[in-house]
Amino acid sequence: MTSYEQYKNITQKAADLQFASAVLGWDQEVYMPPKGAHYRGQQLSTLASQAHEWLTSDSYGNTLQDLASDKTLNEEQQNNVRLSHEDYEKNKKLPSSFVEELARQTSISFDSWAKARKENKFSIYEPELAKMLSLKKKQTELYGYDKHPYDSLLDDYEKGLTVAILDPVFEKVKEQLPPLLRKITNAQQVNNDFFHKHFPKQLQWDFSVNVLQKMGFDMQAGRQDYSEHPFTTSFAPNDVRITTRVDENNFSSLLWSSIHEGGHALYEQGLPENEYGLPLGSAVSLGIHESQSRLWENCVGRSKAFWKYFYPILQQYFPAQLDNIPVTGFYKAVNKVQPSLIRTEADEVTYHFHVLIRYEIEKALLEGNIPVKDLPGAWNDMYKKYLGISSPDDKQGILQDVHWSHGMLGYFPTYSLGSFYAAQFFEQASKDINDLHTQIESGEFSNLLHWLRTHIHQYGRRYQSEELCKKATGRGLDFTSFMNYIENKYTEVYDIK
Ligand code: MG
Repeated sequence: MTSYEQYKNITQKAADLQFASAVLGWDQEVYMPPKGAHYRGQQLSTLASQAHEWLTSDSYGNTLQDLASDKTLNEEQQNNVRLSHEDYEKNKKLPSSFVEELARQTSISFDSWAKARKENKFSIYEPELAKMLSLKKKQTELYGYDKHPYDSLLDDYEKGLTVAILDPVFEKVKEQLPPLLRKITNAQQVNNDFFHKHFPKQLQWDFSVNVLQKMGFDMQAGRQDYSEHPFTTSFAPNDVRITTRVDENNFSSLLWSSIHEGGHALYEQGLPENEYGLPLGSAVSLGIHESQSRLWENCVGRSKAFWKYFYPILQQYFPAQLDNIPVTGFYKAVNKVQPSLIRTEADEVTYHFHVLIRYEIEKALLEGNIPVKDLPGAWNDMYKKYLGISSPDDKQGILQDVHWSHGMLGYFPTYSLGSFYAAQFFEQASKDINDLHTQIESGEFSNLLHWLRTHIHQYGRRYQSEELCKKATGRGLDFTSFMNYIENKYTEVYDIK
């Protein structure tokens, strides 16, 4: 076996374990009976530690070291080796004792978060969150950083992302979104009451499958199921799972979850199969992943062109519920904007204030500028400041997200980046495919998917986000694309002069 084959062999074996863990994790959310939790946790932890052991072993490190100077490798092979080597160096910075401690605290913090949420009382969770925070601070020291401790955590989700890059982006959010939001709140509100009529579960499901197939989701290489929180997980490029949720008295719940997760899934299905388990067969970052889901959910799935095609079909599924609702009324309802407390239910404009608030809090926590016990107050002050509302309780405020209990600090900003990248990619695709709008109006999505496959999916992790964005659009992340997109859309939806 050549050194490259040895490297490939171990990396793919570790990936086998990671994908097997994904099957167990998927089952946990979709089918597992409650009593299965204990041993499922043990099984997942065994698989994770075995994979970690292989990927941090000295022999793996030596193989990577040898390959780094091997001139016989082709370009793909060199890229895989380079990226695996970077992963290896980063993984090695965390001693196993620390990784275990973090895993243990994650499980304790998660339980205490769930309990606090159930009882609507932050004080139950506070001591465990404080312990988690001190572990995350320790992690920033172990990783090391140049300017801000937060940089080292951001890098886990979006390689190369720093506070110095994010601050100016969120400055633009703070400058440019409030004037638009003010215009919208001063305009006449659109009506979406009819979303709350009765929409039978099976019909909502059938319609979502119809949409997913049109988007190009390959049902022979994936499937959709129900879970409490929608998500996408992949076992290989030809077995990608998405989940959605249903509310028979709220039409907006199922469909856009399906489209969102469908966008994630198209990315996974589009990764090169011959690079299975290797960096070039993996998604580049959370921000780019989210750009794929947001592009389909919002730029496509909440567009006028999309509903020009799908609305008559939808009316056949729900003739009584949508009787007397013209397509323009439906389109406006789909794009209703209103400040609200829950991030996951927020519209395209106010969503980014939810992310901004979490970004500012995470930064302040790592700087030591907010004690954990003061979080509910700080949270409410920011909701008042940015959205003019405040939470009546902890459950709808500081306890709404699971992320911090899992130790995922640095994750939230990728949600906003996803939307901003999505607008920029969609803008470019609309230039490159000259009748894209007409194609969408006639339910034709294959050229758009082809564009995404060509400019994003096929590369795996070969380029970092910023570089990939430059290659695809001619420039790095530019907030202007997103701002133009929402200004155009909401000026029309809210009839703003
Ligand atoms: Mg997502």
